[in-house]
Amino acid sequence: MPLDIVTIPCLSDNYAYLVSGDDGVAVIDAPEAAPIIDALESRGWTPGVIMLTHHHHDHVGGVAELRAKYGCKVMGPKAEEGKLPPLDFALPDGMRGGSGNSVMEVIAVPGHTLGHVAYHYPEGKAVFTADSLMALGCGRVFEGTPEMMWESLSKLAALPPETMVYSGHEYTASNARFALTIEPDNADLISRSEEIAAANAAGQPTAQVPLSLELATNPFLRASRPEVKSALGMEGATDAAVFAEIRARKDRF
Ligand code: ZN
Ligand code: FE
Repeated sequence: MPLDIVTIPCLSDNYAYLVSGDDGVAVIDAPEAAPIIDALESRGWTPGVIMLTHHHHDHVGGVAELRAKYGCKVMGPKAEEGKLPPLDFALPDGMRGGSGNSVMEVIAVPGHTLGHVAYHYPEGKAVFTADSLMALGCGRVFEGTPEMMWESLSKLAALPPETMVYSGHEYTASNARFALTIEPDNADLISRSEEIAAANAAGQPTAQVPLSLELATNPFLRASRPEVKSALGMEGATDAAVFAEIRARKDRF
């Protein structure tokens, strides 16, 4: 059985996710409680656990209310335990747990914050990346360094290409406008940009995509590609330096 994954818009542009599988129901990130409660109740689901990706308020603001209502456990990265709501389980990098399609592994993806993690379901072929890898973009590098973020994105890029990527915000349309400034002739990017505009016009989310499509279109994952290096006039530069240049341009965009 595949995982049953529900995308829940929260706040102005955040996403929470429900993951229902062999080990029950998990909530991934809790920007605010009300829309998550609505999504659970309309399905008759009770969450066993909340899994947090990083400490920013727009990812944890609903935790206390959900914990009080459901008595669910809260898990999050050990590396920033002190900044998170109280955790029942502090997860180290590389930890693997669960059974059947709910087998999950923790991947440290520091950069946006120093303890940021992604949750990878190898059997379920899904990865929840929040503000690390984002649809056609990546999170701003607040706490780490560009080199650190590039290494984190490289770990995610190495997952099986059919893996579905679920990210933390609906920033895709503006990410697409930026991506086209880096690779204006990328045919996959041009057609994806058109699809994003159509989806947004129809009120549909666009921050949930196969990794293969990210690899073909996301400039932050493509910093190692010769065509991207030459487009930036950085033929001899390291991949991390090219990533840093793309990130700096996006910060000014
Ligand atoms: Zn964040
Ligand atoms: Fe965020």
